[in-house]
Amino acid sequence: MKKKPLPEPIISPEILELAKKSVEAEKPAPRKRCAVCGASCAPLTGPQNPDDLCWVCRRLKISAWRDSDQQISAQE
Ligand SMILES: [Zn+2]
Repeated sequence: MKKKPLPEPIISPEILELAKKSVEAEKPAPRKRCAVCGASCAPLTGPQNPDDLCWVCRRLKISAWRDSDQQISAQE
């Protein structure tokens, strides 16, 4: 008996593609739209405000808060 080393591909491209598709089907990329600029953005689950804002508008909003209310950190 002779051993024949079969050149097996680690993952066939077809299976790989199927796997990718299945993953995409399972996780339909939870995308939100920024409530301000409308840009699609990943949902930010901040410790304080899970707003529908992209990080840019979020920062703008936070800076605006600081301008108007500087004692907001006392609240939850
Ligand atoms: Zn925005």
